[in-house]
Amino acid sequence: MKRITISKLQKYIKDKDHHPDLKKDYFLKLSEEVGELAQAIRKNATPANETSFKGSIEEELYDVMYYTLAIANLYDIDLETWIPVKERINDEKYGTHNADKLFSN
Ligand SMILES: [Mg+2]
Repeated sequence: MKRITISKLQKYIKDKDHHPDLKKDYFLKLSEEVGELAQAIRKNATPANETSFKGSIEEELYDVMYYTLAIANLYDIDLETWIPVKERINDEKYGTHNADKLFSN
């Protein structure tokens, strides 16, 4: 199975859905999708499978990721660059050593 990187997905979203003048709309969509995710979790939605995806936690998680990356695009933020930075901050904050695992196979 081919792997999808965060950078590839972010570029894919930018190529098909990028409107820098609509920042507030993208944020509202993200908020809406977080609400849909909350509902799917609260209703203990059926796990997605080949024949059923609509309304699943899997679908709503992707929708949240989609709008997160779309918003990153609006600000020209390469999110993959900043993930290890934030994880190192988290390591310091919580006294853990997890960030280096991001770079191991
Ligand atoms: Mg949704």
